[in-house]
Amino acid sequence: MQLKAGSDLVRKQNRAVVIAALRKVGRLSRTELSAETGLSPSTVSAITSDLMSENVVLEVSETDAAVTRRGRPQIALTLNPARATVAAIELSLNRLSVTITDYNATVLKEVAEVFPTAKSGSVDILNRMTDAIRKALEPVSAELSSIVVAVQGRTDAQGRDLLWTPISPGRDVQLADVLEAEFSAPVTVANDCSMIAAALRWQNSERYQRDLMAVLLSHGIGMGLYLDGRLFSGARSSAAEFGHMQFIPNGAKCRCGARGCIEAYAGDYAIWRSASGQSPDTLPEIDLTLVDMRQLAAKARAGEGPERRAYKQAAAAIGHGIASVFALTDPVPIAFCGSGTAAFDIMRPDIEAVIKGSNVGAYDNLFDFDLHDSETPLIRQGSIITALLSVDDQISSGEESLQGILQTNWRAIA
Ligand SMILES: [Zn+2]
Repeated sequence: MQLKAGSDLVRKQNRAVVIAALRKVGRLSRTELSAETGLSPSTVSAITSDLMSENVVLEVSETDAAVTRRGRPQIALTLNPARATVAAIELSLNRLSVTITDYNATVLKEVAEVFPTAKSGSVDILNRMTDAIRKALEPVSAELSSIVVAVQGRTDAQGRDLLWTPISPGRDVQLADVLEAEFSAPVTVANDCSMIAAALRWQNSERYQRDLMAVLLSHGIGMGLYLDGRLFSGARSSAAEFGHMQFIPNGAKCRCGARGCIEAYAGDYAIWRSASGQSPDTLPEIDLTLVDMRQLAAKARAGEGPERRAYKQAAAAIGHGIASVFALTDPVPIAFCGSGTAAFDIMRPDIEAVIKGSNVGAYDNLFDFDLHDSETPLIRQGSIITALLSVDDQISSGEESLQGILQTNWRAIA
């Protein structure tokens, strides 16, 4: 029995390795798959034959260009786009978007809606999201195999509920329970910054595979943190609330209701509030545009004044937060993302000075920062790849087919 259990485990691992290689590279011949995965040609042949019979993998003819390049025609293998359909949903300030892709990550349908989140409670969010997914699925006419919902805010540690969000009065929104009942597909609810981090790891696995701190600089401040290849989360919630780490006790008012958070100095609204001389007790009502922030940054670059002071204070808050995280984790690569990176040149010297002056200042390569200006495509890509990798997991472990059969039978009975 032990031998059988062991060989079954090896088989599942080998299936996972083959699927992962095709997911990463796209098209590979059997010979290339063997080289890519380190598996013997006979193992590759057996596994791909199984995966083809399960409609997970397809044979395709190489394009003429590829044939010429390699000198002889070859049959390539690729993931079967029709094998699964996944949905990536993003809930952000006044916006709800749904992206449906096939198993090869090709976008089949996108729906983006204006959604007044500040006036919408838990029930509104659940209804609106269900409707939007249904609407996006209509022309695709396929069943979903995985759903990932990226939200601004705190989720529970299991990735099922949206516990709290600064964009809506809704609390403890049971997104996974409701969407799973509606669409009969596993649902993961994730903080949007975690999805940014997932996208960056996918794009640059060599640099970020082990550790990554993805810091979102935008209307709010957020963080997705990978340590030792695992997404960091708290004992009870998604945690990693970089924007709500305390910078100044009893300081400026934050959107979360607390005082002195990093975001209350470094979020767009906080920089604007400080630069325009408003009380740190007020939360600006206006929705700041990119143009507003660009003009503010231009004034800060032009010379001394309240605008530059506001950005210097933002930089001090961000530097303080990074130094505090580094004191716990040791320095890790940082990717700054979002619209706030447009003013990174103004903040960089102060961010670096604060980190340098901290107890981690003696480390090498402290300031090897990457910048990514727009967060939305990263959140979407991270959600799509998370959904697809979850399907890959189900397929390589063999659990997907059982679940698929159960769902099909259940629907037939219903
Ligand atoms: Zn806060």
